Amino acid sequence: MTYDPENIFAKILRGEIPATRVYEDDETLAFMDIMPRADGHLLVIPKTPCRNTLDASPAQLEAVIRTVQKLAIASKAAFDADGVTIQQFNETAGGQEVFHLHFHVLPRLDGVALRPAGQMGDMEAIAKHGDMIRAAV
Ligand code: 5GP
Repeated sequence: MTYDPENIFAKILRGEIPATRVYEDDETLAFMDIMPRADGHLLVIPKTPCRNTLDASPAQLEAVIRTVQKLAIASKAAFDADGVTIQQFNETAGGQEVFHLHFHVLPRLDGVALRPAGQMGDMEAIAKHGDMIRAAV
């Protein structure tokens, strides 16, 4: 499987399509998921190309997981959450839909189920949640 530079997250990295960015450093970018399954659902990606965990270098994984931890702590604080779900899917059979490595970070409240996948979020709410996370990083 080869990396397709026209995938949607590569376009976000190049600034060709908009995203609600909440954090970035030299190696990684975090932005809000456009179809949030929980308030505060965000994605962390490496700035360099790889499809997923199966072809990522140890350096890419290390950089991404460092940012995942930072954003998990920040989003838990921002939403006064009880826990955080972290998800990462590999290839179509593994549930992956966008083929640029990404980790989902979802702040969770006790007793509140995830919303179904594939439902567009309210852009105003996503922007507000992005502000809350940015302030907590
Ligand atoms: P996965 O590949 O792990 O199954 O999920 C891809 C995720 O990317 C989904 O949660 C989906 O909502 C999100 N997504 C798909 N297209 C876009 C987009 O254009 N912008 C943003 N911010 N998220 C997207």
